[in-house]
Amino acid sequence: MMEGEVVSKHFIEQIIDKDLEEGTYQKVVTRFPPEPNGYLHIGHAKSIILNSGLAKEYGGTFHLRFDDTNPMKEKSEYVESILEDVRWLGADFGDNLFYASDYFDAMYESALKLIRKGKAFVCDLTADQIREYRGTLKEPGKESPYRNRSIEENLELFERMRAGEFPDGSKVLRAKIDMASPNINMRDPVIYRIARMSHHNTGDRWCIYPMYDFAHPIEDAVEGVTHSICTLEFEDHRPLYDWVVRELEFEHPPKQIEFAKLYLQNVITGKRYIKKLVEDGVVDGWDDPRLVTISALRRKGVTPEAIRMFMKLSGVSKANSTSDMAMLEYCIREDLKMKAARMMAVLDPVKLVIDNYPEDTTELLEVENNQENAEMGTRQVRFGRELYIEREDFMEVPPKKYFRLFPGNEVRLKNAYFVTCTDFVKDEQGNVTEVHCTYDPATRSGSGFEGRKVKGTIHWVEAGSAVDATVRLYENLIREGEEVLKDDYSNLNPDSLVERKHCKLEAAFADAEPGERFQFLRHGYFCTDTKDSKKGQLVFNRIVSMKSSYKPK
Ligand code: ATP
Ligand code: MG
Repeated sequence: MMEGEVVSKHFIEQIIDKDLEEGTYQKVVTRFPPEPNGYLHIGHAKSIILNSGLAKEYGGTFHLRFDDTNPMKEKSEYVESILEDVRWLGADFGDNLFYASDYFDAMYESALKLIRKGKAFVCDLTADQIREYRGTLKEPGKESPYRNRSIEENLELFERMRAGEFPDGSKVLRAKIDMASPNINMRDPVIYRIARMSHHNTGDRWCIYPMYDFAHPIEDAVEGVTHSICTLEFEDHRPLYDWVVRELEFEHPPKQIEFAKLYLQNVITGKRYIKKLVEDGVVDGWDDPRLVTISALRRKGVTPEAIRMFMKLSGVSKANSTSDMAMLEYCIREDLKMKAARMMAVLDPVKLVIDNYPEDTTELLEVENNQENAEMGTRQVRFGRELYIEREDFMEVPPKKYFRLFPGNEVRLKNAYFVTCTDFVKDEQGNVTEVHCTYDPATRSGSGFEGRKVKGTIHWVEAGSAVDATVRLYENLIREGEEVLKDDYSNLNPDSLVERKHCKLEAAFADAEPGERFQFLRHGYFCTDTKDSKKGQLVFNRIVSMKSSYKPK
């Protein structure tokens, strides 16, 4: 976003403005309610940044609430990872960390209240019968024969459900709304079920558990949430949400607002799908840099600032659309442009020998860390007679418009001298093993040399002081030209991870800290891997290449 640009408010901001103006709410309270059944991904980041951003914008409060009412799939490993991810994204929930399971008592009381109002009943139909009675989009449903049980009988049966007197699935508690409603969610939905499952927080205290559509509005209301923002698939559930908060007579009922999910073109975002890739061993855990989980993006080296910028650019809307990964990559480059030191790394090395450079000496060149950001200072880079250059920066027979090294051609060595290629050596297989050249001492960078111009500039690393590193290059998991990953993984991109060993990096990299980000000149932005990189055995992940296919508007 350009500085000074006026950004018009999105539809949720407009709703909030109106609510504050009309006094519907005095203060904005939002929440992010993840179910701890997997790691968060870039889609969740959208919701986190939206909700925490609105709270900040309106001087309100943002809650992080674990929606842990379904004990089956939930694990504390996920709780830990979610906490780390939300904090890393910079969403400030302060002391407002909640667990929906802490409200099981309030939910039970709420169910009793509905029963006493004649708005809920215990039903003995089987799951299949309930489905059958529910009707279809075209036909109304049929009322359950248990619908007219007396309040006393319902209270007694529900209490006995809780006490564990009935087997799992034998009875449910249902809201008594309208079996003829055009909205199927309103046809006496189930709000409590019997299920003997241990819960990670409440253990075996409960054998009845509330259903999502009943639990969620209560969680919001109990916390004083004002704007309960969720994704579009819940639009049809809103009448039920409103019914629950109305019938329970909350003084300041929250309001549900739906927005369109973030989808990324040709990228796997659903939690379920990511989980499958992890479980099938297609990727190396939830933080494999080829995934778009928050932990994978973090490990790869993406910054939270870049993710926030991406969310701003992709907007908040009511209409489904897909965003382009190229836009996220653009945001990463924009963010790192001024922050990352620009250093030299040779990923596919071949020796360059300067025959007229004195033997057994080297020199140190003073180099700016970031030409666009003088505040980043300078460093010393060693130069000498033997260097490494990229294999592709030399060609025996150059095609048209090839301005790099070939016999007889002169190029600039970045930050150093002009060199002219004089010769090369090949092995028995015909691979070039050494390139020879001469240098012109008068052309030292920064010396003010203004003789002749050269068309090509290449990067290099002094051989004697170079540090070895492994560099991982990533591409999309799905093969180019295909949109979704097939179940049998037959269209998995074989080049989604390419590992280059024995890359040659300038000496300053020896001190790279895990998680530190750099620009490798001409190659892109890279980050020291936080899991596998060690002093002396450096491993870098490519965050993004320098090439861009995205044009900002
Ligand atoms: P998935 O869609 O990957 O299965 P989920 O919706 O089951 O995820 P939850 O833990 O229930 O995961 O989601 C927590 C919050 O994140 C919800 O409010 C949900 O609407 C929001 N959310 C999930 N995916 C996206 C997305 N792609 N874009 C925006 N918000 C999302
Ligand atoms: Mg969900």
